[in-house]
Amino acid sequence: MSIQLLNSFLAPTYENFPKGRIISLVVLRKTLSETIFRTEGTGEPICREFVHTGSTSSKSIIERLVMTKRKQVAPERRKGREFLRAYNLLRTVKKKEEELMCSLNTNAPCEMCVDCFLYGFAAGGGGAQKSRVWTEDAFSLLPANELLADRTINGVYENGTMRLRKEEEEDKEKASKSLNTSEYIKPGVHFLDVVTLKDVTADEFRYIVGNILLTSRYGAVSSRVGRMENQILGVFGGIAELPSSLELVQSVHDAFTASGKALEHPFEQQAIADATKQVISNWTNKRGVSVKLSDAEVTELIADVDRNWSEDERETFLKRLDASYEPFRHAPAESKKGKNKSKPKDTEAGG
Ligand SMILES: [Zn+2]
Repeated sequence: MSIQLLNSFLAPTYENFPKGRIISLVVLRKTLSETIFRTEGTGEPICREFVHTGSTSSKSIIERLVMTKRKQVAPERRKGREFLRAYNLLRTVKKKEEELMCSLNTNAPCEMCVDCFLYGFAAGGGGAQKSRVWTEDAFSLLPANELLADRTINGVYENGTMRLRKEEEEDKEKASKSLNTSEYIKPGVHFLDVVTLKDVTADEFRYIVGNILLTSRYGAVSSRVGRMENQILGVFGGIAELPSSLELVQSVHDAFTASGKALEHPFEQQAIADATKQVISNWTNKRGVSVKLSDAEVTELIADVDRNWSEDERETFLKRLDASYEPFRHAPAESKKGKNKSKPKDTEAGG
């Protein structure tokens, strides 16, 4: 099994202290529908950044779309947490006499579930766990202005349409007047991304990769926008991080320029995948990067992840992962503003 090829960079068990083992993933993310990386209707622009076009001689600058760290990780955590919830693996936390279920973006992490141990938390009670899943902003290959479009959205009546009654369809004037212009990312836009995993166990690795591969909605939450697909193009092991997402996208831009292929939207998925694989093929020459899985090994690795997430094995897999933290669990210190920082570890176990 190819996960064993990563053994020197996997932690045998969860530990409280880092030991410099790094596994990195190169991820190609592609929009499959209109996508909006901001809260819908707030009017803030979609995130973009001026950066150098390529990595080498080129001094030219382009404005690239940015998929921020938060826009990547939050939906992927939510995906995993759906299954933790399904198997009762999220814990509750006591706050002011109230039993609260561990939840994201509230001040009540349970500090005991798989998600808390792996993606980290900052707790009111003074405890904190650093995330072991490090992400960076991912960049589009092409300039932002080629990848964005505006749509004017009519306000929708309560019957779910833009008109009050179907009969009125001929009456063009009756269409809802509340118009809203919304900027969106076109379907078929690619983002290149490097994800860094620090001191994770084999099961934690499977959990993270499963979350990345199973998450299919990003950005503004809605049933019709935000569909995306992720493909893992490379898996590395080492003691140092890979080049950044920005360096990756710049090098891929260089590779396209050198090959004389057209750089225009929409890209063929295979063309980008090939150019990216070419760029990362010699990354084991970088300091501290020692293992790169071959394409066949990556395929085998993903099959291993899929098997663990399958209908037959998912519950066993997630419960095994959950149980691996048992020796390290203790109830979160109650938040009485710094008073309890050195509270004994085994007080009032919340269950
Ligand atoms: Zn939790």
